[in-house]
Amino acid sequence: MSRRCPDAWGLALLALTAVTAACGGASTPPPAAAPAGPRHLVLVTIDTLRADRLGVYGNTTVATPHLDRIAREGVHAADASAHVPITRPAHASLLTGRLPSEHGLRDNISLPLAASVPTLAEVLRSKGYATAAFVSSFVLAKQSGLDRGFAHYDDTFETGRGDAALFLNSVQRPGDQTIARVGRWLDARPAAEQAAPTALWVHLYDPHDPYEPPEPFASRYADRPYDGEVAWTDELVGRLRAQLEAHGLWQDALVVITADHGEALGEHGETGHGYFAYETTLRVPFIARGPGLPAGATIPGIVRAVDVMPTVLDLLGLAAGAPATTGTSLATAFRGGAAPPGTTYAESLTPLVHYQWSDLRVWREGSWKYILAPRPELYDLATDPGEMRDRATAEPARARALRAALEKVLRAERDHASADDTNTAAAALSADTLQKLGALGYVSPGAPSGSVAQGADPKDKIEEFSTLNGLMRDGLTLLRAGRFTDSAAKLTALRAAGGNSFQVHFYLGRALAGQGRAREAEASYARTIELMPSFGEAHLALADLRLARKDARGALAALTAGQQALPADAALVDREGQVWQQLGDRDRALAAYRRVMTLAPKDALVRWRAGELLLDLRQPDQALAMFREATTLDPSVPDFWNSLGMVLGGSGAHDDAARAFRDAARLDPKNARYAYNLGLVLQRAGKPEAAEWFERTLTLDPAFRPARERLAELAR
Ligand SMILES: [Zn+2]
Repeated sequence: MSRRCPDAWGLALLALTAVTAACGGASTPPPAAAPAGPRHLVLVTIDTLRADRLGVYGNTTVATPHLDRIAREGVHAADASAHVPITRPAHASLLTGRLPSEHGLRDNISLPLAASVPTLAEVLRSKGYATAAFVSSFVLAKQSGLDRGFAHYDDTFETGRGDAALFLNSVQRPGDQTIARVGRWLDARPAAEQAAPTALWVHLYDPHDPYEPPEPFASRYADRPYDGEVAWTDELVGRLRAQLEAHGLWQDALVVITADHGEALGEHGETGHGYFAYETTLRVPFIARGPGLPAGATIPGIVRAVDVMPTVLDLLGLAAGAPATTGTSLATAFRGGAAPPGTTYAESLTPLVHYQWSDLRVWREGSWKYILAPRPELYDLATDPGEMRDRATAEPARARALRAALEKVLRAERDHASADDTNTAAAALSADTLQKLGALGYVSPGAPSGSVAQGADPKDKIEEFSTLNGLMRDGLTLLRAGRFTDSAAKLTALRAAGGNSFQVHFYLGRALAGQGRAREAEASYARTIELMPSFGEAHLALADLRLARKDARGALAALTAGQQALPADAALVDREGQVWQQLGDRDRALAAYRRVMTLAPKDALVRWRAGELLLDLRQPDQALAMFREATTLDPSVPDFWNSLGMVLGGSGAHDDAARAFRDAARLDPKNARYAYNLGLVLQRAGKPEAAEWFERTLTLDPAFRPARERLAELAR
């Protein structure tokens, strides 16, 4: 700071605003300076978190001190609402400001977010923000398209993609691992990035089932494991806060914490979420704190998921020129001003998409909620928050008025769908595929109005759903445990009971393949693809099945068919590259990997694979470039550094090689190979430190003979 104002007032304000504003005229009071806005954004989404489990929402039996503290320091919404109780589409609404029919993601299995839909991260990145995201569920992995705009997108899970297919929505990364990865990323950020405003999205999955909190939460909440997961997740929020505070990313940040949806926990006969459209799964917590927001205030009215993007941009001072959204900025209400409009829309398409029963559509005005179904429902949430007393018959006029408002949303949806038909990513699909997707409710090419609320009422099907869902759950659990025969029995029973969704056929295929019943498995996969051509995992599974039978050509045919249905799916091309590599055709393999790099410009792993291939082809310079890119894109993988070190060492660049091996050894200190490689390059550079690393190698792996020989050499 170059100037100082002598008076205490000026000194106080110096900390907040520009020096020139602080040093106003001495005699007249200066114009009131606008409070400094937030500099960073921290968005935390907690999966499957019910608002009523937090202290700030009146809960007295679950300890959530960290979330409650943040709410006390800032604002929280009395009534925040999701548009759909499913992870991927709900997150898409938070990150795009659009309703599910507008952003196009309506299920956890969907085409990627269309390139024509702008995202919050994209806007922030274009404004110079360093953007990063850490997600903990497979359904939010890169293939969702929700990574667009994030310079760093951490979606690595312990299982590889092939295994992940088996778990689908249950592949999760424990929150402590996610928070630890955020910490490593914060520690490793280059100075230039640290100087920029930062936008960070962290997704925690722990409250999602299975409810298995770690100790001491498991014991503390022995009879309420869901609550235990909530308390554990609160602890994780505390850890995240401590990390961000240590890196100067908390005090000046706009922190927004919410959930994608809630959890039914047995109410209305539903155990999880994603089937009904009651408040158990639509009501979510919403907490925000940061410069300019009052402490301890409650935001009145309804805060909708679609309002998050425009509100965040407004609070960051970026409203001008921001892309149009269906949501509106609630910045004024957040700062203590007028209440937001009290209406919202929600939907559940699961009964239609997966069971061919009726969908559910919701319209809310204030406390009144209307659910459109074959037998519509009407509730007054003010007097009946549990939605136990249906008023549709008692108040027909009110029901009609809400229905009319809902019809407007449905009309807009139909118009949007017909416009989409001609001009979006959907147009890239074949007419046949479109028709199949349409039949499943994925894209609705000008669906007639009669297609809403048709078929069986989900209320009448909840027991059947529970039975089918139970068989599915058992079949999957057995499949994951490798009990293929038992799993196939459950899934066959499920099919006999009327379960005919693409997922049933897919998992049955996996179980049959596990039993070695390849031909039947192949038929199951073929049926899966028939029902859902855009389900990339099925094409991969079919290819892998054929590969296991040494039918590489058949595998390639499956991958080609998959690429026709999903032209932008990098995983299918990546697998094609691996098949060519197995066939010994390095040129074709490399060509496939290069296509992957175009489709997935931030895929570090494919660069590493291509680098290894280039080494085989004796092109060390190109290999070096690949390894450099891999380590830049994802500095957290020790093998990338190790490969980089090996090429550098081979070219005589000992110092650079030592640095790379050091990174590998730092990331995985228990790996004897990295320690040995570091020792070797230090020995070649004539550094006495080499001996230490050979000794460390032997501590890690006493049977590592080369290290013993090197030590003997050094002793001579
Ligand atoms: Zn979720």
